[in-house]
Amino acid sequence: MITLTDVTRTYPGGVTALDGVHLRMSRGELLGIVGPSGSGKSTMLHILGTLDKPTSGTVRIGGHDVGALSDAELSALRARRIGFVFQQFHLASGTSALDNVADGLLYTGRARAERRRRAEAVLHRVGLGHRLDHEPHELSGGERQRVAIARAVAGEPSLLLADEPTGALDTAAGAGVLRLLRDLHATGTTVVIITHDRELAAGLPRQVRMRDGRIVEDSANPAYVTDRAEEHR
Ligand code: ADP
Ligand code: MG
Repeated sequence: MITLTDVTRTYPGGVTALDGVHLRMSRGELLGIVGPSGSGKSTMLHILGTLDKPTSGTVRIGGHDVGALSDAELSALRARRIGFVFQQFHLASGTSALDNVADGLLYTGRARAERRRRAEAVLHRVGLGHRLDHEPHELSGGERQRVAIARAVAGEPSLLLADEPTGALDTAAGAGVLRLLRDLHATGTTVVIITHDRELAAGLPRQVRMRDGRIVEDSANPAYVTDRAEEHR
């Protein structure tokens, strides 16, 4: 479904955020990305989500070479296939949970009533059927993240990318959000979760560990480290 081949990302000023990353993901995987702060996790997530392009190397998503797509084609790919969840929720304040989710469907061209019907169904699915009219400031952190997840999946993306989704939550709320992400994975969505939480990561079927812009361990590809070490010798 996704292949990164020798992907490098350098920022102006000379920071190498990604340094020769190879990664292959299949449809339906649940992948955890771990690593210290500054190791390139968010940069990799942005590239997986086509929010950013590599400086060199290639990215293929569902048969498309991302580097060959126009900006309009990229936005369309993103809108139809990819959902994002961030640590700080990024909900619109002064807007109900229902409208936060419904507004995420604006690009689909569906009528407003239908967007709201769909949003309501998804909010029920994430356990917030009783919070439709609540604004973000009237919700707990865990509930806000559930709204953000509902918004991310309302358009039924095949790929869900989550950057530290439990990072701002207490243990109980974090566990609830993780359960929800697992449920989504169980119904067929490919899910990538960046996390600082070792325990959380250890429970995921596949883990990739990053350091200094490189993948230093991939549980689905134990030979990876050896191969790369050989290459750099
Ligand atoms: P992580 O998510 O693992 O903490 P990031 O991918 O955010 O790591 O960052 C990797 C490296 O790239 C860090 O050294 C960071 O300071 C640098 N970096 C990230 N974004 C930018 C940017 N927009 N401009 C310059 N440097 C950046
Ligand atoms: Mg980060």
